[in-house]
Amino acid sequence: MALIVQKYGGTSVGDTDRIKAVADKVIETRKQGHKVVVVVSAMKGETDRLLGLSQQVTDQAHGRELDVLLSTGEQVTIALMCMALEHKGYPARSYTGGQVHILTDDAHNKARIMDIEAARVLRDLNDGKVVVIAGFQGIDENGNITTLGRGGSDTTAVAMAAALNADECHIYTDVDGVYTADPRIEPNARRLDRITYEEMLEMASLGSKVLQIRSVEFASKYNVNLRVLSSFEEGPGTLISQEEDFMEQAVISGIAHNRDEAKLTIVGVPDRPGIAFSILGPIADANIEVDMIVQNVGVDNTTDFTFTVHRNDFARARKILDKIAEELGAKEVKGDEGIVKISVVGVGMRSHAGIASRMFKALADEGINIMMISTSEIKVSVVVAEKYLELGVRTLHTAFDLDHAQEQSA
Ligand code: ADP
Ligand code: ASP
Ligand code: MG
Repeated sequence: MALIVQKYGGTSVGDTDRIKAVADKVIETRKQGHKVVVVVSAMKGETDRLLGLSQQVTDQAHGRELDVLLSTGEQVTIALMCMALEHKGYPARSYTGGQVHILTDDAHNKARIMDIEAARVLRDLNDGKVVVIAGFQGIDENGNITTLGRGGSDTTAVAMAAALNADECHIYTDVDGVYTADPRIEPNARRLDRITYEEMLEMASLGSKVLQIRSVEFASKYNVNLRVLSSFEEGPGTLISQEEDFMEQAVISGIAHNRDEAKLTIVGVPDRPGIAFSILGPIADANIEVDMIVQNVGVDNTTDFTFTVHRNDFARARKILDKIAEELGAKEVKGDEGIVKISVVGVGMRSHAGIASRMFKALADEGINIMMISTSEIKVSVVVAEKYLELGVRTLHTAFDLDHAQEQSA
């Protein structure tokens, strides 16, 4: 008998028929003799609908009350899921995050899980009940409801699996595993049998939202046996695990993309020590996250300084930069919201040279101009114009031999 945590995302519980279908899947697992903890998301579109309501009331909804509002989505699903299970004769208990003491810090809208009290859940499981837990939410030490950021139910599931020392954590979604690229962008994308925690973390950080970044961090830290599967069809899914489990390693595992990027350049700033700090200090003080940074070699004692931010921070960042430009006597500030970041990821890169040049050549052959580049040990990222998103992803997918058709004929 194993203890299995199963997480079902928004599309998987999108209407009451889907909730009944998921209940059947849970019952199947129970019938095999396993203990099951179910973590659910809000029904498809519900979190967006709630956000929309808040925006009708104020354009500044954030913090505590937004969390009170957003957490209601998941509460609906846990109740309906338990009703469906009990209707079919399987005892079940629903719990909100607070009720099972998913203790988080107090960073509303992007809280981090600090601790989970497993005793209550284990008691119910030992009594033969299915435990159904609301994803995406927790409680801070003062009893305030918190949420974990978009996609946070993945993190609830993995953290729960770690706290319960579960044998397996299954993330059921609307694709049948992790693919070599987002299947919505690249029709030739292939399902991966396995991917390392490290690669998955890099893919998630670079925009592959199939798993929330924090969930992969948790899985890696606590060595959770993590699998991504479809709730709509049977299949082996993708196993996310340590690197040493692998027999053979492809050089590139996948292509990630991120539309949530905007670029700012301050042109002709004096090239002297402290300039990077004078520019990025005020940006950091405004709590704006900076992703890529490029500073050109100075000419005539001035330099150009470019960086990227999340799109919804663009307007705020530009305002701050305009002010800095004036103070520093820079020539001008340029901005571009129509950009995307495309990245190739793979642990095999460590032992293979020439990945970056192969990437740049493939893009050049298609006439795609690269605006910025950044590299780490296991990834190369480029910023290109948004109109090249599909072409760029598909070009790289082919250039690194990831296409479905090629694999089959190989
Ligand atoms: P859920 O609601 O179940 O949490 P999400 O929408 O958060 O589902 O995540 C699943 C989606 O992630 C897929 O529909 C797919 O479009 C997208 N996705 C992005 N990159 C990848 C990838 N590399 N492999 C699989 N899916 C991906
Ligand atoms: N319902 C939340 C969201 O839409 C959390 C999740 O689905 O994981 O982001
Ligand atoms: Mg998700």
